[in-house]
Amino acid sequence: MATEPPMIRMAGVDKHFGDLHVLRDIDLEVARGQVVVVLGPSGSGKSTLCRTINRLEPVDSGTIEVDGVALPAEGRDLAALRADVGMVFQAFNLFGHKTILENVTLAPQKVRRAGRADAEKEAMALLERVGIANQRDKYPSQLSGGQQQRAAIARALAMRPKVMLFDEPTSALDPEMVQEVLDTMSGLAKDGMTMLVVTHEMGFARRAAHRVVFMSDGEIVEDSTPEAFFTSPTSDRARDFLGKIL
Ligand code: ADP
Ligand code: MG
Repeated sequence: MATEPPMIRMAGVDKHFGDLHVLRDIDLEVARGQVVVVLGPSGSGKSTLCRTINRLEPVDSGTIEVDGVALPAEGRDLAALRADVGMVFQAFNLFGHKTILENVTLAPQKVRRAGRADAEKEAMALLERVGIANQRDKYPSQLSGGQQQRAAIARALAMRPKVMLFDEPTSALDPEMVQEVLDTMSGLAKDGMTMLVVTHEMGFARRAAHRVVFMSDGEIVEDSTPEAFFTSPTSDRARDFLGKIL
């Protein structure tokens, strides 16, 4: 039996913004169904890492594969591959002038050429899954931050991605809404979604992550289990980071 490729494979990835070396020789593999939490101080390159995985940012060198397929630079193949990689940001990025249901059905109809009835049926199932089916006809501004972020997750899932990237999805939320979004993410993880999650929520990292990747100054400094990372980090930089955050 052929062995399956990892869902994400980055090898020797380098990226500069001008003189700033933001990603340094990144090697990272994420297996199918694995949940990897990315930790690190502000400015260490976590967002850039996420953005390179779906080509929102081009890289200078190295390779990135999703499910065994190298990311093309542009064109129709790029659009198709981008659809394989769902992304949820800190800001909810919903379309303000569209209802929640429309937000979730738009891309499947446009990109996947789904029919409206099918797109709506699937969207309702996703809205059920994230617990906001009863909000379907409201506009984003009528929802709480936590509900909006769950709608953003449903919208990303509507493209049937193979991988979900989360870049500080709870950082902009009022504290009382953080848990409902983390619970939604934990549910996805339990269902077997491959996830790369940038977060400062250490409880989530401990409970939901299979692996913790610690970045500092554009490098992956540690890559271990949450247990090992939180109890016995091996680098001074990780110890220093944990000392500040815990
Ligand atoms: P993190 O998400 O870990 O806070 P980022 O990936 O956002 O880090 O940023 C890494 C570094 O790259 C930071 O020094 C940031 O200022 C810089 N940077 C990020 N995006 C850009 C950009 N578009 N142009 C120039 N510099 C950028
Ligand atoms: Mg960031």
